[in-house]
Amino acid sequence: MEQFDVIVIGGSVSGAPTATWLARKGFKVLMVEKDIFPRDTNSTHFIWPRGMSYLNRLGVADKILEQTPHFKQLEVNIEGIRLHGGVPLQAVRDRFMSLHGDDDGVVDYYCGPRRFYLDKVLLDEARSSGVDVREGTSVKSVIIEDDVVVGVRGTGPDETILEARAKVIIGADGRMSKFAHRVNSQKIKVREKSTFAYYGYYSGIDKPELCIHKKGRFGTAIFPTMDERHLVLVYGPTAWWSDFSKDPEANFLKTYEFVAPDVAALVKNATRVEDFKAMGRMVAFHRENWGKGWVLVGDACSFKDQWTAMGITHSLRDAELLADYLEKVLRDESDWDTAMTQYTDVRNADYEDYWSMVCDGAEMEPYTREQLTFFHSLEGHQDKMDQFIAQVGDTISFNQAIPQDDVTPSPLPDFIRDFDSNALNYHDNMYATS
Ligand SMILES: Cc1cc2nc3c(=O)[nH]c(=O)nc-3n(C[C@H](O)[C@H](O)[C@H](O)COP(=O)(O)OP(=O)(O)OC[C@H]3O[C@@H](n4cnc5c(N)ncnc54)[C@H](O)[C@@H]3O)c2cc1C
Repeated sequence: MEQFDVIVIGGSVSGAPTATWLARKGFKVLMVEKDIFPRDTNSTHFIWPRGMSYLNRLGVADKILEQTPHFKQLEVNIEGIRLHGGVPLQAVRDRFMSLHGDDDGVVDYYCGPRRFYLDKVLLDEARSSGVDVREGTSVKSVIIEDDVVVGVRGTGPDETILEARAKVIIGADGRMSKFAHRVNSQKIKVREKSTFAYYGYYSGIDKPELCIHKKGRFGTAIFPTMDERHLVLVYGPTAWWSDFSKDPEANFLKTYEFVAPDVAALVKNATRVEDFKAMGRMVAFHRENWGKGWVLVGDACSFKDQWTAMGITHSLRDAELLADYLEKVLRDESDWDTAMTQYTDVRNADYEDYWSMVCDGAEMEPYTREQLTFFHSLEGHQDKMDQFIAQVGDTISFNQAIPQDDVTPSPLPDFIRDFDSNALNYHDNMYATS
């Protein structure tokens, strides 16, 4: 039977970078991926500056930028309140210093590379870093001896048999992780309420920068991606998905017109160049993330709603963090339980508040008058708008309050003073047919 230091199951945005970091540290790594890349996947692909920083540290950001436009400024528009700014470089530096102890390679731009390209770049980087990459190979079972997971069995192209052992087996096989089931990892937190997401690709739109709009119980996003196309997304509460999906294309435009009529006009005059993609429900969870001989990364370990577009960034974070803790184990500088407990604690400290915020936001309740008053107080103040955007982009913590006492508040517009989501019928399902 083949023997490795580490086996990684899954070669996407959490598995490939984990394998790469470990191979670069000198370990013998096998990465098993059931698909053959390039392949697309059902996920939008906005990457915040923090995520681009991880890609730059990995050495692949230039490859991504060869094909994909990148920007520093973006707009978040909430009920007409326009917050325009970017994530300050110093904020990215501070976050990396506190989590990883260095800020090498951090950047302050964002980017939206297609997954068929990004995932292939990451897989190729793993291979060229010395990882034994086996595509078209699916793990079907795990080998357990004395309660310790010590290997995997599976099948590769032409029914070739895979049988391999390793000191550590990493599950990077996504939110439906079969590996997690096989090692009996339990879900320890679940948040059922989520958004639905419906998105397509258009050509002929002249709109640089990411633009997010929120109105009532809906959101929209648009950003430029590769091949001079834009990704155009609408999202809303999952409870309304079954009605939305009865006539999704019409409801897509209806939602866009309700939330962001200016952008809807651009979309209507553009050409859709690919079929729409959809995800009706995204239940969030945490799983027990390690046990004897095994550990999980990325969505296998923890999943959350799409609305802040943070899964890729967090997968890249997990990869870098986990590789550092596993290095200590593999060099006999730490025992397994200590290293994995430390990894879990550090990761949770970096993650818990943000995960909860995403779950709360995924309920898609309308904003309140108090919240709109707060957003209004940021509008036009660049440092405050930048801080807010850095919070949404999980670079500055939401626990770090945006200072409110250094500006004279401008008078509230009528629509905020009189704001009442019930009077605006925001709780009515606009897709329901009587
Ligand atoms: C609708 C939607 C929109 C999103 N939009 C964004 C966004 O804009 N920005 C963002 O940052 N994040 C976004 N996300 C989240 C992001 O897609 C995920 O967080 C990310 O893909 C997780 O990466 P992963 O490597 O953990 O899992 P995955 O990307 O799911 O990869 C798992 C890999 O494991 C392989 N695999 C599975 N089983 C086996 C097996 N038995 N043997 C071998 N290989 C196996 C699969 O083929 C796959 O390649 C979105 C998610 C959704 C659902």
